[in-house]
Amino acid sequence: MRKGLAAACVALTAVTVLAQETPITIRAGRLVDGTGAIRENARITLDGSQIARVDRLRGAVTYDLSDATVMPGLIDTHVHLTAHFDADGRNHSDPDETPEQAILFAAENAYRTLMAGFTTVQSLGSPMDRYLRDAIGRGSLPGPRVLTSLGAVNARTGEPDEIRAYVRRLAESGADVVKIFASASIREGGAQVMSDEQLRAVCGEANRIGLRTVAHAYGTESLTATIEAGCGGIEHGTRYDDAVLDLMAERGTYLDPHIGLLWANYAEHKDAFLGRGNYTEEGFALMEDARVTGIQTFRRTLRHGGVKVVYGTDAVAGAHGRNAEEFIYRVRDGGQDPMDAIISATSRAAESLGLADRIGTIGPGHEADLVAVAGNPINDITAVRDVVFVMKGGVVYKNEAP
Ligand SMILES: [Zn+2]
Repeated sequence: MRKGLAAACVALTAVTVLAQETPITIRAGRLVDGTGAIRENARITLDGSQIARVDRLRGAVTYDLSDATVMPGLIDTHVHLTAHFDADGRNHSDPDETPEQAILFAAENAYRTLMAGFTTVQSLGSPMDRYLRDAIGRGSLPGPRVLTSLGAVNARTGEPDEIRAYVRRLAESGADVVKIFASASIREGGAQVMSDEQLRAVCGEANRIGLRTVAHAYGTESLTATIEAGCGGIEHGTRYDDAVLDLMAERGTYLDPHIGLLWANYAEHKDAFLGRGNYTEEGFALMEDARVTGIQTFRRTLRHGGVKVVYGTDAVAGAHGRNAEEFIYRVRDGGQDPMDAIISATSRAAESLGLADRIGTIGPGHEADLVAVAGNPINDITAVRDVVFVMKGGVVYKNEAP
């Protein structure tokens, strides 16, 4: 009896050891780990949904990505997952659209985004995002990890007390971040529309209860007021003086500029947008001004240094799944170093989301969020278009590696 039990224990131990000896492994021909480091022929070993270790290649692997560059799952800090074209091909405005139809458009956008190598997005945002976030989180629906603002605070949200109450309601509803419209739409000139007092109310209350804040803001005045009010991140930015650069660097404010894809997408789908709301010829002309100014401002920001630039696209209808195009505009037109652009979409973006210990880096204890592109994006940034492998939380969603 004792002997039988001992034998069973040995057998059980052997099974356990065997299980431990056959974790999922990945060979990375080239590994860009999200922190700025690069190495050849690395082996990534998983422990369930996480990365256990990264070391030198030896032995057989589960996934051989020897001809590819493996990077952390990419992060887009500004998308609109529910934005879509209606059945008539125009930007959504169909009043008869049902919530069932709407959420399926959002699920399609999420799927496209994941297939493009983006394993985490911040949606800024619609109340409907919550259902998508939670459904993807259950593990069956393919999509990126979603963080959402659910709604937004704007000048009409009310007096400071009303704003503070709204921020608390957002938190209770499960918002991951507070989106603030400090400035008007760029198609309406982009001037500051929230008062300094309103900005202090929203960011003060959010800071007090531990919610992150990001503000849609253009111009020196709006950015200064927003940063002085204690808000954590600037969306767009586009035009500001050097004093704002000093302020962002000093306060550690995250800057999420959109210099290419957003404008290209509007230009490409102009007929789908024109004639709806502020999508007028005048609005398009203002967007073209913002595009030109934005590239100059981006270059000046990089030259200044010290500003935490993250990676967002402001993906609206037509842009979902093309999120990586912004890398190409950043490097080609903005003069950003390719490695810095990748850091902005991985470890630095993760830090801006408060998730630096979980995502954005290929290292022990991080989520096994891995993407591979054919070629070498450090030498040729257009390689980001050719995503051949996508893993999120240890689950493979795409594997087209040769
Ligand atoms: Zn946006």
